[in-house]
Order: sequence, then structure tokens, then C-alpha cells
Amino acid sequence: ARQFTRPLNDLANQFNTLLSAIAGAERVFDILDEELETWDEINSTVVQKVHGEVEFRNVSFSYEKGGNTIDNVSFHVDSGTSVALVGPTGAGKTTIINLLSRFYDPDGGMIFIDGIDSVKITRGSLRKNMAFVLQDSYLFQVSIMENIRYGRLNATDEEIIEAAKLANAHSFIMKLPNKYDTILKQDGNGISQGQKQLLSIARAIIANPAILILDEATSSIDTVTEVKIQEALQRLMNGRTSFIVAHRLNTIQQADQILVLDEGKMIEKGTHESLLQQKGYYHTLFNSQLKKKVM
Ligand code: ADP
Repeated sequence: ARQFTRPLNDLANQFNTLLSAIAGAERVFDILDEELETWDEINSTVVQKVHGEVEFRNVSFSYEKGGNTIDNVSFHVDSGTSVALVGPTGAGKTTIINLLSRFYDPDGGMIFIDGIDSVKITRGSLRKNMAFVLQDSYLFQVSIMENIRYGRLNATDEEIIEAAKLANAHSFIMKLPNKYDTILKQDGNGISQGQKQLLSIARAIIANPAILILDEATSSIDTVTEVKIQEALQRLMNGRTSFIVAHRLNTIQQADQILVLDEGKMIEKGTHESLLQQKGYYHTLFNSQLKKKVM
């Protein structure tokens, strides 16, 4: 496999280290962009705003030589629609996301974004069209206002507050001693896991990308916050192409398309209803695991 940059978690760590070391977010983004661009192929295209149409065409990939992490996977996603990636641990869900966001490129097959071969798009410009809401979205030791602003550095305070309202984060922020000026401790300590997610949703709203990557939390979050998160996510996903590494039945059922992966192969694809009717793997998975919410 051709590896140009590190996977998501490493990048987040790298990011954190950089941010602690250097004052001024603009500078950090410049450095990261520079670093990313140096790996871009010559004659790469800088895309501006994409619509978010995505196609995987016979994509194969392996982290190590001779492996088969992703095996001949094909699917098409209309812009503005949602896709739930479902399957057991190690099935390849995260790898699909890594390929889509070009942390890795396919060994075989092609990925198209708005019909453009993704390896011909600069990584920086591709990722400007994406926002990530991950289980452990990274928060920095700066104010809540600045944490949300990382979504788009030229956002005004008013825009940030508006995004926080849409993300259902405003009310908890206003209860903090220093409100939007509250400095988060290392890794967002001091606020709950659920509140961290609301902040990362606000950050994604301010970024306003065509493509969303959501890694649904597996950890339990109190019911009230969970409802707030689901509501905020619905608002965020509206009109955007959304890829969800899904763990919750509700999310999966509501997705426009479900891709069922097992050992790197896409074994089924369809809606919740059509997959249940097939009485195949998803049907079994649904009865044995999804209902118990232990996926
Ligand atoms: P899922 O998200 O469905 O749990 P992943 O895409 O994370 O699955 O992993 C698919 C397979 O690739 C697993 O066998 C996993 O161990 C392997 N894998 C994931 N990341 C790496 C990596 N950075 N290097 C080598 N192997 C990896």
C-alpha cells in the first residue's frame, strides 16, 4: 500500500503536539497543509466546493503487502445522502474512511469525488470539503470559542455562537463559569464526553463541508445528552453526504444506504428494509447483535 500520511488518530496526536508547541492556529494549518501538499502528485487538482458525490469502483487496499484489507469494493453515493458502514470489528469500515479522505490511496480500483479521480485531487483541498466528528474528536487547550473556530478560522464570534446553538451546545456553554471563554483542560477534560461531541458537531457546522465523516460513539452517554447529539447530528447531516461508522440501530435504520462489510468485502448493500428482506448477513446481524446494541 502507498502510505502518504498517517491515519486519523496519529494525525490528531500530531496536531495536538503542534498546537501545544506553537501559538496561533493559522500557522499550524499552514504547516500541516504544506506537509500534506508535498506528497501530492504533480498536476493535482485543487478542488473548491464539491457537491459530495462519491463512487468507489472496484477498490482494493491492504496496509501490508499481500493482504486484503479492502477487497474489490464498489458503491455509489449521491450527494447529500447518508451511508452507514456496518460490520464486525476489523471488517474495514475505518479503512473505507481512510481511503475516502486519502490518508491512504487504493492499491486497485478508483475513488471518484464528483466524478474526479480522487488521487488527482490535492489532499488539502479534498479535506477542506470534509468534516470529521469522531468518537474522540480532539479538543485543544484553548477557549471553547477557539475550539469551535478550528472548523473555519475566519468564522466570526456570532457565527460560532450560531453554530453552537444549532449543535445544541450553547446552553451548556452558557452554564460554564467563563462561558465561551472557558479554556478547556488537556483533551477537553472538565466537560463530559457528550458535551465534547456537541462541540465537535458545532465545529463541523462552522466548517460547512459537503462531506461528513461520523464515527458514532460506542460509549454510553446519558439519555438527555444523547437526544441532543442525535438532534444536532440530524441538523448537521441535512443536505450533506454523510459516511457514518454506525453502531446505533436508529442511525443505521435511517441511513439512505447501508453497506455491510465483512473481512474487507462488501457483502450486502441496501436500505434497512431491503436488507432485512434479503434475510442474509444483515438480517442475522440485526437479530443477534444490533437489537442488543452491542455492535
Ligand atoms: P473496522 O473499522 O471495521 O473495525 P478497520 O478498517 O479498522 O476495521 O481494520 C480493517 C483491518 O485492517 C483489520 O484487520 C485491522 O487490524 C487492519 N488495520 C487497520 N489499521 C491498520 C494499520 N494502520 N496498519 C495495519 N493494519 C491495519
